[in-house]
Amino acid sequence: MKNSVVDQPDVGITSETARRFARSLDLNVVLSEVLSLTVGSLGADRGSIFLFDQSQRVTRHILARRNLPVEESEKIVSAVLDYGLAGWAARERTLAVVEDTLTDPRWHFFPDEASSTRSAVAIPLLHSGVLNGVMTVEKNDPGAFAQRQIDLISTIAGQSAAAVENARLFTRVRDERALLQALVNGVQQPIIVTDTYNRIRYSNVAAQRLFPKVGNTAGQLAAPDIVSRRLAGMFRRLLRTGRPQREQLELVDGNTYDAYLELVPGAGAVAVLHDVTAFKEVDRAKSEFIASVSHDLKSPLTVISGYVDLLKDNVSSTNRLAMQSLGEISSSVVRMKDLITALLDLAQIESGLVQAREPVHLSKTIDDVVSEFRLPAEEKKVDLHREAPDDLPMVSGDPVRLRQAIANLVGNAVKFTPRGGSVVVSAHVEEGYLVVQVSDSGPGIAIDMQVGLFGKFYRVAVPDTNAAEGHGLGLAIVKSVVEAHDGRVWVQSAAGQGSVFGFEIPID
Ligand code: ADP
Repeated sequence: MKNSVVDQPDVGITSETARRFARSLDLNVVLSEVLSLTVGSLGADRGSIFLFDQSQRVTRHILARRNLPVEESEKIVSAVLDYGLAGWAARERTLAVVEDTLTDPRWHFFPDEASSTRSAVAIPLLHSGVLNGVMTVEKNDPGAFAQRQIDLISTIAGQSAAAVENARLFTRVRDERALLQALVNGVQQPIIVTDTYNRIRYSNVAAQRLFPKVGNTAGQLAAPDIVSRRLAGMFRRLLRTGRPQREQLELVDGNTYDAYLELVPGAGAVAVLHDVTAFKEVDRAKSEFIASVSHDLKSPLTVISGYVDLLKDNVSSTNRLAMQSLGEISSSVVRMKDLITALLDLAQIESGLVQAREPVHLSKTIDDVVSEFRLPAEEKKVDLHREAPDDLPMVSGDPVRLRQAIANLVGNAVKFTPRGGSVVVSAHVEEGYLVVQVSDSGPGIAIDMQVGLFGKFYRVAVPDTNAAEGHGLGLAIVKSVVEAHDGRVWVQSAAGQGSVFGFEIPID
């Protein structure tokens, strides 16, 4: 007799069900286990199971008739759900028992099928009130399901729904993870994700290509020997300050990367590196062109200023128009010479050609610069002083260029700070870097004007200052000098609140 299974104790079957379901989280495995266990436990002849998504569309199914071509099985699925018993149980959200398929209109016969099914039970799989699917078990004899078996199928269905839900959640997480991984791996830019303890959680293929040690170090610190000294420093600073970090890095493969690091709240940090080598090359070609044009302009300018001086000596001082014109020509020539000198400086710094590397005592450099600007500051009644210890560690670099960078910052601060204001030059050591900051009580710079501030020829109209004095290259020179020393520059300012220009360079 087929339904000998009813002789087994129910509790044994249901705890076995729970145990087997808990074993697997793979949705396909869970589905076929659910079905075969139910069919087996009830001594049924066959069964089918359908899973629905939130919009009640079928996402997976196992039919009583196996190994059908896809098109045919799809036809059966929609017919069974539209006119058959499974569809009825799903719509009504209740157990349906068919004593005899020949007389119960809820049973759908397929015209081409010689079905031997005479009795059937269909039960919706409900989890927390949500319809996850429907399962049907069939027997060849009419009225073959005893009440005990019908009770048992309800118990199994409850457990199945929970197991299916678990597997479904797991499958969704796994699929989404795989999709995300495929996407991130398809991205050409190296990407590294760390946790809140600065340990590497994830890296994509491009990152592993760039930093071969990253691949097998999941869980290890984003340390200098793994992700390069400068990138490791950026990760540390991001975690410490919470501020996004952006720097251009020259890395082991000889290429230049624009590295951008940002916090992922509650999870850690993510670093994305863009290869900007090609842009750098264009920039270099442009600098070269500017350098050669500037150089060629220098000689005719020297000739002009020589002749202007000669004319000045020979024009009668009573000829006021001529004297005034010559004066104008002279000061224009001086401005052009300044501009050309700045352009040539920039080109030289960017090419890295004249960069000396020697120990530099930055507190002495700061003193020198403060002394240099004392007079112009006093003339404007601006209080200029330094706040830096004398025992700052030495840095390795080009003393002339570093002095030029600090002088440009102090010069700007004095220039833009109105009478009675103050300018403070400070320096301190922070995490292996020497930080120099120039703070002023000047007009400040509106946030939206700060983008591109360190670019070439960038100028912000500042009221009450002599706009004609600048050429918009001072900060570009600061940035180039600092970057040539493996450092970075920044500005903190807001309109009406003074400005703090800062840079840091690594201590040897
Ligand atoms: P410039 O020769 O015009 O000073 P910079 O590159 O040194 O060129 O500065 C670019 C612009 O940044 C300036 O024109 C000015 O608008 C703004 N700026 C620089 N420093 C300050 C400062 N300390 N306070 C306010 N604005 C500043």
